[in-house]
Amino acid sequence: MPRGRSATPSTTAGWPALADAERGVLRELLIHGPLPRAELARRLGVSRASLTRVTRALMDHGLVREGDVELRGATGRPSELLVVRHDARHLLGVKLTGDTVYAVVTDLGARIVAAHEAPIRSREPDAVIDQIAAVHARFAEKYDTIVACGVALSGDLAVVDGRQLVADSGFLGWKNVYLAERLTTRLGIPTSAENDVRALTATEHWFGAGVGCSSLALITVGAGVGFGLVVDNRVVTGHHGRAGRLDHLPVDSAGPICGQGHRGCVSALLPNQAIVDALRIPGLDFAGAVELARDGHVGALRAFTDAGHALGVLIGTVANALDPEKIVLAGDGLVVMELAGDEVRATAERALAPGIPAPALDVQPFQFDEWARGGAVVGLRTMLRF
Ligand SMILES: [Zn+2]
Repeated sequence: MPRGRSATPSTTAGWPALADAERGVLRELLIHGPLPRAELARRLGVSRASLTRVTRALMDHGLVREGDVELRGATGRPSELLVVRHDARHLLGVKLTGDTVYAVVTDLGARIVAAHEAPIRSREPDAVIDQIAAVHARFAEKYDTIVACGVALSGDLAVVDGRQLVADSGFLGWKNVYLAERLTTRLGIPTSAENDVRALTATEHWFGAGVGCSSLALITVGAGVGFGLVVDNRVVTGHHGRAGRLDHLPVDSAGPICGQGHRGCVSALLPNQAIVDALRIPGLDFAGAVELARDGHVGALRAFTDAGHALGVLIGTVANALDPEKIVLAGDGLVVMELAGDEVRATAERALAPGIPAPALDVQPFQFDEWARGGAVVGLRTMLRF
C-alpha cells in the first residue's frame, strides 16, 4: 500500500496508510488530548504549513476534527484545538490466561465500549485462534470499524527473522507459536501479540498513570508478579524479549520456597497464592486470606507483612537500578498496599542507595478487563508503528 494520503478520503472502516508525520500528530493528540495547531507544530518540529497538510489528511480520513477555539497566553490570540475522533475506529483487545479468554473493544482513546469473557475451550493454539475469531466476528456485527487486534499473554514473546513469535507461555503450555501472523490472516486485520505486563506498561504510559512521564516502571501483583519499564518514552523489551524478570529476586534467605525452588524470592512471598499458602488453612482462598487479615488475624497479617516486605525490596531495587520518574503499582493483588502499605514504604526506603529519593508510587488497583485493554493498546500502537 502506498504511504501518505490515499487518493480518496476514507472516512469509514479500515485503517488508512498514514505518513510518519500523520501518525506523529495522531499519537500526540491521543496521548495528550486536544492541542492547538501551534503546539502540535512545535512538539513535532514541523512547519505550520506542513502541519496544515498533515491535519487535513487526518481529517479526510475521519480521524481528527477541529474542536473549540482556545484563547492562549497574554495576547489572548485564538488558537484552534485539534481533537481525535475517538469513535472513528475501534480496536479489539484480548487477554489470554490459562483458562479464560478476556476480550474488549475499545475506541481510539482506549476506552472500553464492549467486553466479553469465556472459558478457554482448549489450550491448543488452533482452538484458541478459533475462539478469538468467533469473539471478533461477534463484536464486528456491532462495531464494523475494528481496525486492529492486540493479544496480551504472559510469557516470552520474541521477534525472530522479522516474525513475531510466542516463544514460551507457561500458562497456555505454548512454545514457538506464530500467534500474531496466524490471527492476522484469520481475522483479516493486523494483529500483534505482546507480553501482558509490557502491554499494560504501554497502556499506563499512553493512557494511564504514566502520561507525560518519559520514564516509568510498572509492578503488577496478583496471580504472579510482573515488571515493565519505559525508558526515554520506549517500552523496554530486552535483547531476547525477556526484560523485566524480577519476579524471582531473592528477598528473605529464611523464607518459603517458590515453584522454581528458590528460597524466599519475591514469587515465594508476594503473589496471591503465596499469601494463601503461608497461612496453611485447608480450603482457604485469597479472598478468605484478605478477610482474615482485615479481621486482625495475626497469621494473615504476618503473611501480608511478609508480602509487603518483598514488594518493598522490589520497589527499592527498581528505584536504585533505574531511577524512574514514577513507579506504578497495578493488579488485582494490591490489597497488600491496604494491609501492609507501611511495611512496603519503610522497606523500600531502607533499600534505597544513598542519594536516591523515595520513588513516587502510584497505586492503581484494577479490574481484570484492564489486561485486555492492554491488548487493544498493543493493536493501536502497531497501527501507529510505535
Ligand atoms: Zn523464585
